[in-house]
Amino acid sequence: MPTPTPEIRFDETEIAFAHRSDSDLRNSLLLFRMMSWSLLVQLGTRITPWAVKNRFPILPLLRSTIFRQFVGGENLTETRQVSDALQTFGVQVILDYGVEGKEGEDNFEAAKNEFIRVLEHAATCTNIPFISIKITGLARFALLEKLHALQQLQSGAFLSCYQNAQQRLAPDEREEWNRVIARVEEIVAVGARKGIGVLIDAEETWIQDPIDALTLQLMDRYNRERVTVFNTYQMYRHDRLNFLIDNFKASVQGGYRLGAKLVRGAYMEKERSRARKMGYPSPIQADKRATDRDYDAGLAFCVEHLDQIFLLVATHNEQSSLYAANLLVELNHPIHHPHIHWSQLYGMSDNITFNLAKAGCSVSKYLPFGPITDVIPYLMRRAQENTSVKGQTGRELSLLLEEKARRTRLAR
Ligand SMILES: Cc1cc2nc3c(=O)[nH]c(=O)nc-3n(C[C@H](O)[C@H](O)[C@H](O)COP(=O)(O)OP(=O)(O)OC[C@H]3O[C@@H](n4cnc5c(N)ncnc54)[C@H](O)[C@@H]3O)c2cc1C
Repeated sequence: MPTPTPEIRFDETEIAFAHRSDSDLRNSLLLFRMMSWSLLVQLGTRITPWAVKNRFPILPLLRSTIFRQFVGGENLTETRQVSDALQTFGVQVILDYGVEGKEGEDNFEAAKNEFIRVLEHAATCTNIPFISIKITGLARFALLEKLHALQQLQSGAFLSCYQNAQQRLAPDEREEWNRVIARVEEIVAVGARKGIGVLIDAEETWIQDPIDALTLQLMDRYNRERVTVFNTYQMYRHDRLNFLIDNFKASVQGGYRLGAKLVRGAYMEKERSRARKMGYPSPIQADKRATDRDYDAGLAFCVEHLDQIFLLVATHNEQSSLYAANLLVELNHPIHHPHIHWSQLYGMSDNITFNLAKAGCSVSKYLPFGPITDVIPYLMRRAQENTSVKGQTGRELSLLLEEKARRTRLAR
């Protein structure tokens, strides 16, 4: 284990929460305390989507608590206030139009237009270098699922499996898929023109192959002079380290650069439970240690090839965040190397984001926005992710309490 770079510490609560007022701190404390009651979260994540759908008057409560903590606003104008405030502290922004679960060609077209509007907005700001997109916002889930299953039936190189699978779709489905490709390509082309990177989220394993294949093809086209397209590698999957290395080799052969966002992965329970129910081996690592091992091995691989890879370290794990910084130092790279960027979700791990920014690293908050009723699935995932007092919530709570105590001492 390399020695930590002395400039970077994640326990400086004064730096971590400098952007938060006393009342913001109190609200966050209350919310993280509530989220630490797993029974309350289990119940809440079941009831909330139902209550919102049936128009129970809970939106004001959601807006002043969980929405305010994790979301940048209902529209781009509202996010501007947040992104400007972050800029004061040297923190950048990844904008995410967070609407999920809306299907139908009209909704897909509307989402594409919104992503383009987001890119145009980002180009008018100085601290929004990336936006993020979900292919399920632009394509029918069942179509992705079918294409994925067809891809799995083929043998040979990854991209030729994808090409053969497309030929096996029914003619109307092939046309539908071509419309998806056109939508994604239109977004990426605007990103390339405006100089804004497009991060493509990783989703459930049973729809992921066509997303990966499409993303790789777009990298081949758009990542030549600069890196516009990024794929996401979920290192809780036991096959992803090899996949990352294969993608790197393909990029070298193809003469383009690899954009790689490394995450651990957000759908572990869902993945395991589907595998159990359907009787296939789980795609998820056997334990957390294995996920951590592959995550850090992925970081090491990318940092060793920073001339060819643009790495996005997307994590709330302090050890991994520091490990990436230490790898740079070991390889005599500057801490602000133009091919590495750290990011944490808005509302989480401010101690990492703001301390990295202070040390001179390129770092952002991943900032979702959208009408409150449309970002409910995102909010429910955040609540579930933050239930374990042993894990992230415990850390958030102890840092918030420390900062509150520090401010109380100062006020005496
Ligand atoms: C900027 C950004 C973008 C993101 N984009 C995506 C995305 O596109 N797709 C996506 O899926 N997620 C995405 N995420 C969410 C991310 O996957 C979760 O925040 C992440 O899983 C939490 O892990 P961590 O690295 O923060 O650290 P930690 O808190 O150290 O790790 C928790 C994670 O470890 C894994 N884990 C926990 N227990 C076990 C176990 N028993 N066995 C195996 N693995 C285990 C799980 O992935 C769990 O979420 C993104 C996060 C950020 C910050």
